[in-house]
Amino acid sequence: MKRVYNFSAGPSMLPLSVLQQAAAEMTDAHGSGQSVLEMSHRSKDFTPIIEKTEALLRSLMGIPANYRVLFLQGGASLQFSMIPLNLAGVEPGIEKKPAFYVETGIWSKKAEEEGAKYVDLFVGASSQDRGYTYIPTPPPPRSGDAYYHLTWNNTIVGTRWTTPPETGNVPLVADISSSILSEPLEVSRFGLLYAGAQKNLGPAGTTVVIIRDDLIGKAPSWVPVMLRYDIHAKEGSLYNTPPCYGIYLIGLVLEWLHALGGVSAIAERNQHKAALLYDYLDHSCLFRSPVDLGSRSLMNLPFVFTVEDPVRRADLEKRFIREAAARGLVNLAGHRLVGGMRASLYNAMPLRGVQELVRFMEDFEAQEKGGLHVSHPNHE
Ligand SMILES: *Cc1c(COP(=O)(O)O)cnc(C)c1O
Repeated sequence: MKRVYNFSAGPSMLPLSVLQQAAAEMTDAHGSGQSVLEMSHRSKDFTPIIEKTEALLRSLMGIPANYRVLFLQGGASLQFSMIPLNLAGVEPGIEKKPAFYVETGIWSKKAEEEGAKYVDLFVGASSQDRGYTYIPTPPPPRSGDAYYHLTWNNTIVGTRWTTPPETGNVPLVADISSSILSEPLEVSRFGLLYAGAQKNLGPAGTTVVIIRDDLIGKAPSWVPVMLRYDIHAKEGSLYNTPPCYGIYLIGLVLEWLHALGGVSAIAERNQHKAALLYDYLDHSCLFRSPVDLGSRSLMNLPFVFTVEDPVRRADLEKRFIREAAARGLVNLAGHRLVGGMRASLYNAMPLRGVQELVRFMEDFEAQEKGGLHVSHPNHE
């Protein structure tokens, strides 16, 4: 068996032990004589699976009793529409309600573009002026705002919030797709949290929504049934067929995390992994992190070559990605919109993977210095 270290931003690595358990249970799950892929979502075999997954998520995240956990579909992107529709939707002909958004990257911008269709959207702060390389100082919401939206971890640009802003009575809503369960988060500070599963939780196809009771049931009557939190909450995420296999795999990932010691233990590991790469980047002559010190993500670490000449830089990037892949370090290209490189170090990325990446980067830098791989000697 040849496994690579997959640094993709998502879908991303899953723990090997989880994949092996899923493989072992593929044709006969828990003595049911069938695969989870074949089970009815209303059967006595599946009920314990969804219940266990929710219970584990509640205990690992410390989700208070007055919050509901929903397993939905449509990715984090569908939440860009469901949030405004459910928290601030109005009947036709009625003036749109105001809502507050903080813009810290490409995903928060997408949330805004969608939200603006349904709410009177106000961008209260943005870090676009410096390419989203920092988290702006959060301003307070305005008194009438229906909610306050932010992107906790910015997957593409590699920044993260560390403390939630004070929003008083205005519900704080956060996209935690790329940081869920990576470090402790005080759920009670938020009205709604949401995450696509494919980064830190399991396979693509399931979206987790954690919503405070009092925010359920506010959608106007015209909102389509599949987009209503009240329906999904009432039916326990079983209004229609949920992504059963995804929910099962999330359950296995949560068991793995629980056995590791839970969120505080994985947070310590994540700090250590990220520090290894940041320390190297901050001391390197060839690579650097474009992100401000106080705003750096533990999950997504973009980096660039310090080389000025764009032609030589592009050449180095291509060679870097190619040679890394040859060493089993794959998917290190930056997002197509920002370029450069990016290493995503989600929970399932072992420390060993980061150590091997840093060793490869040291070798690459040494070779460059030694002039063994000077691709454009004229520029030297
Ligand atoms: C990946 C990602 C999304 C989009 O997720 P989908 O599940 O593909 O819709 C949204 N927000 C953030 C922060 C992400 O990392």
